[in-house]
Amino acid sequence: MSPLRRFGFFLPLALAGLPGLRASPSPAFEEIRKIDVHSHLFEDAPVFHELFRRLNLRTVNVCVPGGDGHLATMDRVARQLYRREPTLYPFTATFDVTGHAAPDYAARVIAWLDAAFAGGAVAVKIWKEVGLGLRDASGRFVLPDDPVFDPIYAHLARRGKPLHAHLAEPIDAWLPLDPNSPHHGYYSTNPQWHLHGKPEYPSHAAIIAARDNILRKHPSLVVLAAHLGSLEHDLDGIASRLEQFPNLHVEVAARTRNLTRHPPERVRALFARFPDRILYGLDSSWKPHLRDRPPTDLQRQAHATQLEVRYRADFAYYAGHGEVLHSGRKTEGLGLPRATLERFYHGNAERLLGLPAAWTGR
Ligand SMILES: [Zn+2]
Repeated sequence: MSPLRRFGFFLPLALAGLPGLRASPSPAFEEIRKIDVHSHLFEDAPVFHELFRRLNLRTVNVCVPGGDGHLATMDRVARQLYRREPTLYPFTATFDVTGHAAPDYAARVIAWLDAAFAGGAVAVKIWKEVGLGLRDASGRFVLPDDPVFDPIYAHLARRGKPLHAHLAEPIDAWLPLDPNSPHHGYYSTNPQWHLHGKPEYPSHAAIIAARDNILRKHPSLVVLAAHLGSLEHDLDGIASRLEQFPNLHVEVAARTRNLTRHPPERVRALFARFPDRILYGLDSSWKPHLRDRPPTDLQRQAHATQLEVRYRADFAYYAGHGEVLHSGRKTEGLGLPRATLERFYHGNAERLLGLPAAWTGR
């Protein structure tokens, strides 16, 4: 690849200064205030604080999942980070799902979440384990619109706290393994989530319908659907739901690479039609509590470096013009207008999560 093509994102920037070639050059990466609404960073380490300040970025630290026995640890570290650096680490709580059959389940979860809100939590995460993992006493899968969760959703709506919902999986989970799929790496190494040929599991459509049913039953509950609402293959499906459910928003965490595979004009059209409903996220994970031994400084630095590379690659796609490289593939930058970028990267998150807008990390 020639140097000019390799730096295809920067070349149009240079041309932007020439009259008549381009009306609006891309803003610089550091210039746009950024909020990553989908981050899992569970360690108080200066290397991360310094990185986020330098990038003019803050993360919403998401506790997840609610069934792996680490709820208290995630809650403690998320609160600690929030107290240490409140502007850098607002956090999203989650709740136990394993005790859903107990008669006082909803009341206990509501008390737990109220304590999390008192500690600063801005939203509540629900994970794909509800729908694809959790079963009732008779062995049936518990779907996310199960009435057992209704008092919890109603409480979130009353408290004005969004439900950050990662429900279902990409459609690829239900299809044969495909080396060309952006999800091949995940499903080939996480076969427990690859559901092709496992008819006992609910279908993709059944879980999406259950998610839509939550939106229908709780119209004042703000739902932030993670990973493009697991409809990353279907831009029309995303648009029709955003149209149908005014309380629905989507974020792009770990699905920017899916967007790069759609025709750019169709992705631009989605942003143009719903500029207030799409939020930025990356979905990186740093969970020392799941390791055998604490991470080294070298490993922390490597994670920070990788984060910066990924944040910059995403920005090149959303803000850049012309050819850009994303996830090892050539694609075309969306060149979103500055006003759209400002909403996508921070304005919508500030509004939905009640985060201070006058913040600058630099
Ligand atoms: Zn995640």
